[in-house]
Amino acid sequence: MEAWRRQLNDPVSAFPIAKAGPAHIATLKTFDPPLQELEGRQLRGAERRGKRLLFPTDDGELVLLVHLMTAGRLKFLQAGESGPKTPAFALAFQGGSKLVLTENARKKRAGVWLLTPEQAAAEVEHLGPEALGLSAAELGGLVRADSRRLHSLLRDQRIVAGIGRAWANEILHAAKLSPYALSKDLSDEEVERLAEATNGELARGLELRERGASDEKTYRVHKKLGEPCFVCGTPIAQVDFEEHTIYYCPECQTGGRVLKDRRLSRLLR
Ligand SMILES: [Zn+2]
Repeated sequence: MEAWRRQLNDPVSAFPIAKAGPAHIATLKTFDPPLQELEGRQLRGAERRGKRLLFPTDDGELVLLVHLMTAGRLKFLQAGESGPKTPAFALAFQGGSKLVLTENARKKRAGVWLLTPEQAAAEVEHLGPEALGLSAAELGGLVRADSRRLHSLLRDQRIVAGIGRAWANEILHAAKLSPYALSKDLSDEEVERLAEATNGELARGLELRERGASDEKTYRVHKKLGEPCFVCGTPIAQVDFEEHTIYYCPECQTGGRVLKDRRLSRLLR
């Protein structure tokens, strides 16, 4: 998300908005203020809180908030550059450039909200501190406040903002910690490893994204089932947990143990 923000900051603020929309009915989550209120205004740039991108208008009256969820993608098109035929959402700028959101998924989950600054502040209020830049002491305070499985805790935006399921996999592998480890059981040394892995992996991801690297090249553990662990060569394993598939190395992270399926659907059966 931070890489997207940096990429979009300058282009979105270069020209006033000529046309706001069209928007897919499932993508636009608000109707008041109407989207057309954006027309004629200029954006101040791109900001980020956790996984949300915020585009405030430079008159300070409106904020466009975008959450891409899993499958949403944003693209900035220069004047004359062709884009998707039916984007889920589009903004056209004076001069002909465009910002388009596409979502290649049957179920539309990405969202766009047009909010007042007060509404936008309320939307992001519940988010925890940004993951990138957390010290071991800060992270220790967060993980010890509650006893949770690490993979689930890292993905919880109310505790720490900015880590999704892919980076939870990468971070736990780098920290050599089990995704199922209970947060309260971590030793000081393990908390330090987790903080170092969080900063190291997110910084690595940011750098690769800025260079335009694909998911394939960016991730080393996520979605690498059966491929050799880049540290020890053991095939990467997967396990279903809650609504997510976790990828991990049984040698590096769980002392050779294979983790058991803890899907919600299975537990409820
Ligand atoms: Zn390994």
